[in-house]
Amino acid sequence: MHCNMRTGKGLLCVCIFSFLCFAANPPADSNVANQIIQAALQPSPLQENLRRLTDEIGGRIPGTPGMQHAVQWGMQAFSAAGADSVHSEGFEMPNSWAEGATEMTATTAHQVSSSGVGGGTVLSSFRVRAVSLAWAPARAAVRHVPVIDVGEGTDGDFQKAGDISGKIALVHTTVLKTWADLFAEYANAPPIVGRAVKAKVRAIAFMATREHDILYRHTNAGAGEIDRIPMVIVAREDGERMARLLAAGNLVWADLSIPNQIGGPIKSSNVVAEIRGSERPEEFVIVGAHLDSWELGTGALDNGCNAALVVDALRTIKASGVAPRRTIRFILFSGEEEGLLGSRAYATNHRAELDRAAGVVIYDSGTGKTTGFSVGGRKDIMPLAQILIAPLAQFDAKELKPDMEWGSDHFDFMLEGVPTFAADQEEANYLVNYHAVSDTYDKVDFPQLKKHVAEAAVLAVGLANLPEKIGPRLTHDQIEQTMKDTNSIEMMKADGIWDDWVSGKRGRQK
Ligand SMILES: [Zn+2]
Repeated sequence: MHCNMRTGKGLLCVCIFSFLCFAANPPADSNVANQIIQAALQPSPLQENLRRLTDEIGGRIPGTPGMQHAVQWGMQAFSAAGADSVHSEGFEMPNSWAEGATEMTATTAHQVSSSGVGGGTVLSSFRVRAVSLAWAPARAAVRHVPVIDVGEGTDGDFQKAGDISGKIALVHTTVLKTWADLFAEYANAPPIVGRAVKAKVRAIAFMATREHDILYRHTNAGAGEIDRIPMVIVAREDGERMARLLAAGNLVWADLSIPNQIGGPIKSSNVVAEIRGSERPEEFVIVGAHLDSWELGTGALDNGCNAALVVDALRTIKASGVAPRRTIRFILFSGEEEGLLGSRAYATNHRAELDRAAGVVIYDSGTGKTTGFSVGGRKDIMPLAQILIAPLAQFDAKELKPDMEWGSDHFDFMLEGVPTFAADQEEANYLVNYHAVSDTYDKVDFPQLKKHVAEAAVLAVGLANLPEKIGPRLTHDQIEQTMKDTNSIEMMKADGIWDDWVSGKRGRQK
């Protein structure tokens, strides 16, 4: 299976899936991978676990009862799956945040003529469906504030708009269709916020990137801090209506109230379960996904399905009868949506033992088919990784990308020099439901999710059973070289992470 003699890579033929196998006996490895795959595809508590997490517990914002219940769910689910140990690890977030009853009404003036009594200017109003951005400040109710169209919110757009202090800036967006669109949306927002702050607007109204009235929770704050200016997302249809009115020369005013509830520091928790290694228990592989979610929907695709996957990967390995040589840690992270806060805290607090980390596998893109894994810029681990994922070709998960991928819980392990594997997945129905009211249990593709359980379990056991770790932990300089090689530095600067890296606040320091 992984002895790729045909391409002359015989030296890489190593004993991966079982300490009983030998280079001359590759079918033994196939058997072990097959055992794991079969155990994954059996009927399991996967659906029921996710139903409880999403329908019964619901949205899971750190600091809320939903998140606390989810932590208990994780502890219980890991125990029931047969974990050798389960515990939670707390960490602090700078602020609590909850949305109040956000309200927005638009009023416009237009001309009417009526025979007999003459014409005149009349006002008409309509409700604008709006939600606050997460971790954005509250806005006390204001009335009759002019709405100004600032196009896509570029420097030129703001200049063209002139003096708009005290007004509401309406920002156009494009409909979200691809991963590239999503990354662009994230990258564009902080500079727009910066321009709006400079222009002293009273609030920003971003048009939703989803059609059909779908609203979603988004944050433009990077690390759980309260953002600089009140912001709402308005239903695309309402935003376009206001824009058309303004383009036609009608004035538009808005009444706006954003009574967000904001508090001081809060504690949240990651949940950690283990299967102890049979030969090298001090070395460990991590399989992780975030347990927290936004709360307009129930966080099923993002990321309840993959939290349930992590639990079921543990069950799968136990049920397969395979005893991994290294320890496998199964971690449900919290605070991901507010800026990777749980995984960042874990990587920082466990820095002293990361020399013994043998790989981190993360799933965070719903249930679109896995096409392969991004390996965090680590070309050095690709030949062995290709062997480890060979049994997953039957699921079409076969491509390794050397990119330093962003945006999920592998990120801070990557900045610590640990080999990481972020699952690359097809968009499927993820983006239309992303962080939205419509991200619910019924959107989950369970047959596909079960294949992903198999993939995560096979890769984790593969990493746990290699004779030596798949690659060394990189030094600070080596990590920085991978950033250069993958053209990641500009992105890090745009995301405000570069300064923290350079100053030693984030990532490996030596
Ligand atoms: Zn996510």
